[in-house]
Amino acid sequence: MSSTVEDESKRGRDPADSSEPRDFIRARIVEDLEQNTVATVVTRFPPEPNGYLHIGHAKSICLNFGVAAEHGGQTYLRFDDTNPVKEDQSFVDAITADVAWLGFDWGDRLTHASDYFDQLYEFALELIRTGKAYVDSQSMEQIRETRGTLTEPGSDSPYRDRTVEENLDLFTRMRAGEFEDGAHVLRAKIDMQSPNVNLRDPVLYRIRKVSHQRTGDRWPIYPMYDYTHCICDALEGITHSLCTLEFEDHRPLYDWVLDQISTNWHPPQIEFSRLGLEYTVMSKRLLHRLVAEAHVAGWDDPRMPTIAGLRRRGVTPAAIREFCRRIGVTKQNNTVEMQMLEFCIRQDLDRTAPRAMAVLDPLPVTLTNYPEGQLETIVAPWHPQQPELGEKDVVFGGELFIERDDFALEPPPKWKRLTVGGLVRLRNGYIIRCVEAERSPDGEVQNLRCEYVENSRSGADESGLKPKGVIHWVAAARAVAIEVRDYEPLFTDPAPTAGNFTEVLREDSVRVRRGLLEPAAAESGEPRFQFERIGYYARDPDDRGLFHRTVSLRDSWKPK
Ligand code: ATP
Ligand code: MG
Repeated sequence: MSSTVEDESKRGRDPADSSEPRDFIRARIVEDLEQNTVATVVTRFPPEPNGYLHIGHAKSICLNFGVAAEHGGQTYLRFDDTNPVKEDQSFVDAITADVAWLGFDWGDRLTHASDYFDQLYEFALELIRTGKAYVDSQSMEQIRETRGTLTEPGSDSPYRDRTVEENLDLFTRMRAGEFEDGAHVLRAKIDMQSPNVNLRDPVLYRIRKVSHQRTGDRWPIYPMYDYTHCICDALEGITHSLCTLEFEDHRPLYDWVLDQISTNWHPPQIEFSRLGLEYTVMSKRLLHRLVAEAHVAGWDDPRMPTIAGLRRRGVTPAAIREFCRRIGVTKQNNTVEMQMLEFCIRQDLDRTAPRAMAVLDPLPVTLTNYPEGQLETIVAPWHPQQPELGEKDVVFGGELFIERDDFALEPPPKWKRLTVGGLVRLRNGYIIRCVEAERSPDGEVQNLRCEYVENSRSGADESGLKPKGVIHWVAAARAVAIEVRDYEPLFTDPAPTAGNFTEVLREDSVRVRRGLLEPAAAESGEPRFQFERIGYYARDPDDRGLFHRTVSLRDSWKPK
């Protein structure tokens, strides 16, 4: 019973399930296909490799790969690697692994904005030749100051009317590496009076004498995102360029660039709302700080909203895809409750996670009538409703551990678990009766002396007894020591902000306990279990003795 990353992404629902709800983007795509505006669907997911992917990115991944797959189309995984100062190959590798793990296949369509640097440069020369771009020699600060505000127009640069020849000369020399960082930029010549600040002669290229993770030292100039993105979309024949709402005001620039240059393809940019999740932050800048300031153990800390963190925590790709399906795609910005994500995780694990018995607060039990030193094996299903998950060997013996709070000296009314003189069934084992509780001088229960009912073995019960409660247990002789970590949200504030997020960090977001696990589970290669009556737990990929709580059994999630 082991499962690989590959199996995992296939488990659960098909990412291209045709029962996808019809959102406004899907409706638009169907319309475009029906009206022959497009012949096929080509989308892209364009991450910047400056951090790890988070659950918000998953929404965009599921949307882009999902809509294309629904129509037999294709999706590019395109790295938007135009800012070498902040980017890194390790992020490229992590992002690639995460998209694959989520269950999506880009085939041979893994691309980089940097693959197109030559073409982007040629298009810039074209813009200069047609008088649509100029080299500005103001400082970045002057450019910012003359840009105007939301209420006031900007003012023209003194370099705005340079001749085409002068612009071509300066730009080719920028490209040749003749100038230092900041000496010049290339700007689009649009309109400094435009009510849309994005159209006030945006910068298209800047000088950056830094090595790029892919192109090395070939380029001393790098194109800006707004200029690069639309051209890459056009070059790849993207039919629907899906992005988040904050780019709505950039759409006129997206369209302007493609209208000026000689491409024969101009995709529509369509915006949808970002995913926000309660009790977490999603901006990569803030996630970077959580890691850098050691508030978490790393990008893949199980408390992080990153795909890598969710994976370490035991969340399955199917649960994430289902979550993205349920939240849908709209134009309204909203924040989704954590319970929604946990519901999807629980629903998936209830179906797929084998059951195991683990005792986290052990109370020793001695069965006084069980042959001393004897152990027996009871065969039990890994999952009560999923026989295809197979069976396990449960080891039973005369020395057991049960959960301390499954015993009460003075039981409250309607108590169904163990008490002196009472009966209880041990899950997958026998019925036992408690004879005596041995206590320390200060009154604490130290050991229970019990008797087992010989003909009550689970699956072959002839005792006729009907104890009200069933509890979990482990056999002392074979139980394996484990560490379990239970998590609470990282923040106490449902909507932490860039301003306050380090002040609203929860102090006890991880609770560490020692426990004892039944041997079949300890020895199995299975990555996740339901620890019966406790919660869903996932084995740490780097430490077989460590289990992270993926999610509790029920929706008891009330942040303190
Ligand atoms: P962040 O603000 O976290 O740094 P970003 O938008 O700068 O995110 P990119 O790597 O540029 O990160 O994002 C790649 C794609 O994922 C973009 O198309 C972006 O719109 C989308 N995306 C990012 N965050 C979210 C989110 N919270 N919800 C939905 N889509 C998102
Ligand atoms: Mg970005």
